[in-house]
Amino acid sequence: MERLPPIPAERLPELLRRMPKAELHIHIEGSLEPELMFEMAQRNRVALPYASVDDLRRAYDFSNLQSFLDIYYAGAGVLITERDFFDMAWAYLQKARADHVLHTEIFFDPQTHTARGVSMETVVNGLHRACEQARAQLGVNASLILCFLRHLSEEDAFQTLEQAMPFRDRFIGVGLDSSEVGHPPEKFAKVFARCRELGLHLVAHAGEEGPPAYVWTALDVLKVERIDHGVQSSKDPALMKRLAQDRIPLTVCPLSNLKLCVFPRLQDHNLGQLLDAGLVATVNSDDPAYFGGYMNDNFLRTFEATGLTAAHAHRLAVNSFEASFIGAAEKRKYRDQVDAVFAEFA
Ligand SMILES: [Zn+2]
Repeated sequence: MERLPPIPAERLPELLRRMPKAELHIHIEGSLEPELMFEMAQRNRVALPYASVDDLRRAYDFSNLQSFLDIYYAGAGVLITERDFFDMAWAYLQKARADHVLHTEIFFDPQTHTARGVSMETVVNGLHRACEQARAQLGVNASLILCFLRHLSEEDAFQTLEQAMPFRDRFIGVGLDSSEVGHPPEKFAKVFARCRELGLHLVAHAGEEGPPAYVWTALDVLKVERIDHGVQSSKDPALMKRLAQDRIPLTVCPLSNLKLCVFPRLQDHNLGQLLDAGLVATVNSDDPAYFGGYMNDNFLRTFEATGLTAAHAHRLAVNSFEASFIGAAEKRKYRDQVDAVFAEFA
């Protein structure tokens, strides 16, 4: 679509819901809703430090990234069997379908589970089976990205990679997540170089709470293809120029940023600024069970708060497929589907 047809403002919310989109920044452990967490705790006889679902939800009053991570790791403790990993991913994939997410690249944190004695095989097989079923039954294309926990050592990351190698065909890339400040990307230079040799796609969280310098080293030392979050990049004009010129995508997560106090109010979010500067920014849910919303909640609330337009919506939908790790022909197919829905709303 060369020029976007005019779309009446009152139709924008429905368009945001209906437009085809890809999700590229979702931690599957962060999609575990309290109800399912309590169900798994019961069937696996794991004690949770919360009396009820409501009690747990009340604890979701975070002041920064670390305050969230403490609860997130406690919640992941209920995941024991392959069925648990399948059920968690299947619940997310059904929500993705309902939000017109046609393609998703899902992060998982094996170290959170292997450190508790759950095998890599259990984790990967449960998640993989849900991805296969999503393709067959929901028409949602889903793949997995293995994330290293950056608060742990690079040696630990190497061991994790080793454990994952028998399942190499079940994940498309590696990422870097968890506590950002004090754990710069370059701490993982060697393991990312090894993953690059193995032909894995590379992404990393950078510039969520950490400085623009972390985005630079993620690009220049780790050689990542995409930056997760990256919202702090707007503080560095040279970096903004680099991201725009090299078309390095940013997987932005507005409701996460609000919940973790990266921006004091949603209307202060810089998504519009990133898009208007020509960056390949995308919208994603990060840890939707904890941050108050899946994909469409992120789109609807952010557009309402910041006054973004249908042209921004089109850009975000197109960017989400461009930024994904699918082939050029598939990207074109999804781009045509985006344009068809926008034409319907004109
Ligand atoms: Zn994240």
